[in-house]
Amino acid sequence: MKNFSYYRPATVEQAVSLLENRFGNTELLGGGTDLHDLQKEYVSQPARVVSLGGIAQLQTVQVAEKSVTIGAGRTLASISEHPQLRQLFPALATAAGEIAGPQLRNMATLGGNLCQRNRCWYFRDEHSNCLLKSGSTCFALDGENKYHSVFTQGSRCVAVTPSTIGPVLIALGASVEVQNAAGKRLVEIGRFFKAPNANGEREHALASNDVVVAVQIPVQGLTNAHYEVRQKLSSDWPIVQAAVSFQGGRNGEKATDVKIVLGQVAPVPHVAQAAMRAIENQSITEQTAAAAGQAATQGAKPLSQNAYKLKLIEVAVKRALLLASGARPYWLA
Ligand SMILES: Cc1cc2nc3c(=O)[nH]c(=O)nc-3n(C[C@H](O)[C@H](O)[C@H](O)COP(=O)(O)OP(=O)(O)OC[C@H]3O[C@@H](n4cnc5c(N)ncnc54)[C@H](O)[C@@H]3O)c2cc1C
Repeated sequence: MKNFSYYRPATVEQAVSLLENRFGNTELLGGGTDLHDLQKEYVSQPARVVSLGGIAQLQTVQVAEKSVTIGAGRTLASISEHPQLRQLFPALATAAGEIAGPQLRNMATLGGNLCQRNRCWYFRDEHSNCLLKSGSTCFALDGENKYHSVFTQGSRCVAVTPSTIGPVLIALGASVEVQNAAGKRLVEIGRFFKAPNANGEREHALASNDVVVAVQIPVQGLTNAHYEVRQKLSSDWPIVQAAVSFQGGRNGEKATDVKIVLGQVAPVPHVAQAAMRAIENQSITEQTAAAAGQAATQGAKPLSQNAYKLKLIEVAVKRALLLASGARPYWLA
């Protein structure tokens, strides 16, 4: 790892003042579970690292009548274990609690999770000069792409969006509080993620001198759930993920205002519009949930090695809808 200077500001303002107007030379540090990996792999070689760990303001969780605000410095473990978050947003608590393993969840922060870099093996290999470094080719497009996007959405880089919290927050209608030298602003979570297509671009829409301060989630009484299809039960990413939310939809009641968001299938979280239309105003049963799952694959264009993900999308959407509706998870029998 290249040597770097370490800064530990006590306020967000101090942190902002240490940042630069391009990524690379100075990087923010949350729990370090992604940044330090990238440094050790020589993919990221900052000269200055600005830790957010000493900023008390980033550690709070405020539960108000109309919205919940979670500080960007909260660990994933503390989010998954928080009693009010578990009650209001089971999708979020479950997703946070399924990430990696306990060691990672005790270090990793909410802000770092949303801003983490993608896990494409070509990008992570220091010897591979892909599109996101100074190269001009996405090697996964015609190479080893079994974990990559099936909805490429015109993106030249086919890595999948890495955060499993992102799709859940979109389903819950959250916003991200961002601060820079000009002050604070709210970014709707649906506009937060961005497909990187060139050197210097990130998986989010923030500038290099922006700090994620908190996430706000409206309290709207939404029924919500999250389901991941995994190869291993811990210490890995899911292969496909579905986050769902709706009004009603329990005890045979119809589901309305349905949102279905997929993770691990596209360069940004994928809002499954056809699936949402398929289940809107329906009671959730095995049949209607399965139909929504099938609709969720509409528009997919798998790469050479990942057509298998289409079946997993069907399964993830069906099971997430059934979980949210309160049905007994037959797959755990
Ligand atoms: C084995 C393994 C399995 C994993 N499985 C999953 C999974 O299933 N789902 C999933 O979502 N993730 C998974 N992860 C990734 C893990 O969740 C992330 O590494 C972690 O969430 C990053 O958080 P951090 O605080 O450690 O970020 P850091 O490593 O500190 O930072 C990550 C990036 O975010 C930037 N950053 C950090 N905080 C802020 C902020 N407040 N504002 C702006 N920028 C900021 C940093 O500059 C850096 O670029 C896995 C990781 C491993 C190693």
